[in-house]
Amino acid sequence: MNLKKQYENLGVAPEIYAYGEKIWKSLKERFDKIDEISEYNQLKVLQAFQKNHVSEACLLGTTGYGYNDLGRDTLEQVYADIFHTEDVLVRPQITCGTHALALALMSNLRPGDTLLAPAGKPYDTLDGVIGIRPCKGSLAEYGISYDQVDLLPDGTFDYEAIKKAIKPETKMVEIQRSKGYATRPTFSVEQIGELISFIKGIRSDIICMVDNCYGEFIEVIEPSDVGADLVVGSLIKNPGGGLAPIGGYLAGRADLIENAAFRLTAPGLGKEVGASLHALKDFYQGLFLAPSVSSSALKTAIFAAKLYENLGFEVFPKADQERYDIIQSIIFHEDKPLIAFCKGAQFAAPVDSFVTPEPWDMPGYDDQVIMAAGAFISGSSIELSADGPLREPYSVYFQGGITWQHGKFGMMKTLQAMVDDGILDLSRFER
Ligand SMILES: *Cc1c(COP(=O)(O)O)cnc(C)c1O
Repeated sequence: MNLKKQYENLGVAPEIYAYGEKIWKSLKERFDKIDEISEYNQLKVLQAFQKNHVSEACLLGTTGYGYNDLGRDTLEQVYADIFHTEDVLVRPQITCGTHALALALMSNLRPGDTLLAPAGKPYDTLDGVIGIRPCKGSLAEYGISYDQVDLLPDGTFDYEAIKKAIKPETKMVEIQRSKGYATRPTFSVEQIGELISFIKGIRSDIICMVDNCYGEFIEVIEPSDVGADLVVGSLIKNPGGGLAPIGGYLAGRADLIENAAFRLTAPGLGKEVGASLHALKDFYQGLFLAPSVSSSALKTAIFAAKLYENLGFEVFPKADQERYDIIQSIIFHEDKPLIAFCKGAQFAAPVDSFVTPEPWDMPGYDDQVIMAAGAFISGSSIELSADGPLREPYSVYFQGGITWQHGKFGMMKTLQAMVDDGILDLSRFER
């Protein structure tokens, strides 16, 4: 077997291949631990499938109103067993992560209530939902206020300020597990648990909601195992396993899920309607693959961090840092390597590998943005994908890799693009 030749056939120079192999070998012990977590989660998922008697009939969908949709109802029970919650809403009618989060907020807050973000500003797309940025239909328009407590400079929770911020009107808190595109550390589930205990210690009736995007199956527990009342995420990230074509989920307390279901469909109808169409087989199979797929994405992120850190680039998080999500960034401080990285990721893709990504004026952004995406599911970020705005500090953000083998190849391909664009010399890889 000549692996090196395979890489060469796909345009990766032997020097880069050898360098990649060296880095990968140095990570083997760490990857063993990731495999162990993935194995644990695989069995957790399998057990939920078996306990709930997932059958061939569950894989078929319904149409129309979708009354008595066996596959849909069983899937929600499977999710509930994985997240250890009373109930779950997981549906193709939830269009994306932002929609799932908006649904959780809008269905459980009422005029006069206040939402508190105790761990810094939520993900950018929630600005419009909350009304931080004026937007039609925002929480603010419905008379729901918003408070925010930022993290301390060292990235930890500002407990004193949180305590002060909790008012009688504070109905709900929103905690984001992943750093997303911010430059703070991602919280571990344990850290989130500490924050929730603190908040519940002040007022036990405050609803603690966690934005779980990019965090699922990275640890052996989820935020719902440490006291979160509601956990929310997207199916075109980790739990969709690269197969779910659309969708989001909310897992949590039965009363909160009921509110969300009444908002998603209609008061009085709730979970009873909502045909699953043809999505179920991919929802089930994607969930079944999710522990393994998420671990592949995690390995890809760590591998990339080490590849680039070792060459002297600034990476965030650092290669040796503990991980609680799958996002990696590399800070280039100039445009050429950012563009080359995205080109390499695109050229490594199974779909659209022959196109060259270029910076463009994306609606809603002041600076040009470059994106690499060669995915089976449009916009899927559990598949290898990269993007970055063309402004200081010229950081690329990337995530995904539904198989480790492909993620590994993809990262070597980004180095090759650096060489092809004259940014790195092949002699750099001989160290
Ligand atoms: C991706 C993401 C979202 C939003 O999900 P979309 O599917 O892009 O709408 C929200 N929060 C975090 C932390 C995310 O990573």
